[in-house]
Amino acid sequence: MTVKTRFAPSPTGFLHVGGARTALYSWLYAKNQGGEFVLRIEDTDLERSTQPAVDAILEGMTWLGLDWDEGPYYQTKRFDRYNEVVDQLLAEGKAYKCYASKELLDEVRAEQEANKELVRYDANHPKIKAANEAAKEGDPCCIRFRNPTEGTVVFDDQIRGPIEFSNSVLDDLIIRRTDGSPTYNFCVVVDDWDMGITHVIRGEDHINNTPRQINIYKALGAEVPTFAHCAMILGDDGAKLSKRHGAVSVMQYRDEGYLPEALINYLVRLGWGHGDQEIFTKEEMINLFSLNAISKSASAFNTEKLLWLNNHYIKTLAPEYVASHLEWHFEHQGINKDNGPALTELVALMGERAHTLVELAAQSRYFYEDFSEFDAAAAKKHLRGVAKEPLALALSKIEALTEWTAESLHGVIEAVCAELEVGMGKVGMPLRVAVTGAGQSPSVDATMQLIGKERVIARIKMALEFIAQREANAQ
Ligand code: GLU
Repeated sequence: MTVKTRFAPSPTGFLHVGGARTALYSWLYAKNQGGEFVLRIEDTDLERSTQPAVDAILEGMTWLGLDWDEGPYYQTKRFDRYNEVVDQLLAEGKAYKCYASKELLDEVRAEQEANKELVRYDANHPKIKAANEAAKEGDPCCIRFRNPTEGTVVFDDQIRGPIEFSNSVLDDLIIRRTDGSPTYNFCVVVDDWDMGITHVIRGEDHINNTPRQINIYKALGAEVPTFAHCAMILGDDGAKLSKRHGAVSVMQYRDEGYLPEALINYLVRLGWGHGDQEIFTKEEMINLFSLNAISKSASAFNTEKLLWLNNHYIKTLAPEYVASHLEWHFEHQGINKDNGPALTELVALMGERAHTLVELAAQSRYFYEDFSEFDAAAAKKHLRGVAKEPLALALSKIEALTEWTAESLHGVIEAVCAELEVGMGKVGMPLRVAVTGAGQSPSVDATMQLIGKERVIARIKMALEFIAQREANAQ
């Protein structure tokens, strides 16, 4: 049997973290089993489904690298098939027409509530029976599935263990509405059956749907797939993950400067583990993944850990790859990447400390753009009278350099320290503020190397002028 999993989002919003994790687990399980992964867009809710949401889901999946072997299928393109199956069930007496009006159903519900009875559709309720008997062919009706009235439905959830429901609590659910549209619980079954889905991995909010769906599979004579229901994801503060908790759309993580590898690694650990290993390549995840190692309890989102993983991937993935993602942020922040060092060199130098690509781009602006002012606090501390001599000496040595490397620049700083008999800090810090405009950067020799000779010389001159001005103002 070839394992086949699917991700079946409803396009009523963007791809959020919970959905992305479900997609990832389904994708990983298919890969782990040498199987296939299907993408299906469940767009039967015509009022709430939108094309921008479909696009956002596809964009999110693509950005995360969760490729699909089949699909995307669209439920709205399969109505003929659903109708065919409804007709089959009707012909076999496994479904029936229900003529009870909304008003009547509301009346029965109110009665059940008043009597403290289980609120459900009861085909044997005298009023409903009477309505159905009185109806004429052609009257508006919906189609209901004839759910067994006795016995239980049991399934062995791969994450939560055996789950049992009594048929007495499941009513005859509508499979085709009065307006002719098929309903979610029915379409899912027809689709999963037609598409040969062997493992349904989805959120625990669907547990209550599963017994209903299993009864439909059985009525169709279809093989019932294996189910795995994943627990919820909670926000940093332990409350249900929602838009209020900030970035929840997958693409928002791209916007905030995360690499897809970091988010994927983060998501896989959010409810699944292998010993205490935190960092997994995609290959490792695929090889080690198993459904029964998924946690039964809710997982809490932890932004600190995501940042830590992102830093790990920024500094360890190939600079060419990181640079390809960084480019988007340069454009977004309006920094012209052609106006300075190659992004790969920048990543190699600046990646070590960066937690996000947004931060990396923002902190790299001085490599690509000149500035007209020094950071006030850094200048106050380091661009003062005592820095004049080291800066001037460094400038003349830098101007004389024939070889422009981090080593040769390191040699300049050492020579200045030796000649003036001062410590590294007395030379390095003023130079750093002079060439970067602020007090923080990687090692100043490598930073200067990447900024380039012409800019370094111009900026040291600017710093010397700044000091002269400052001294003049003080007099
Ligand atoms: N379309 C459903 C949802 O987005 C998922 C259905 C399923 O996975 O069975 O919640």
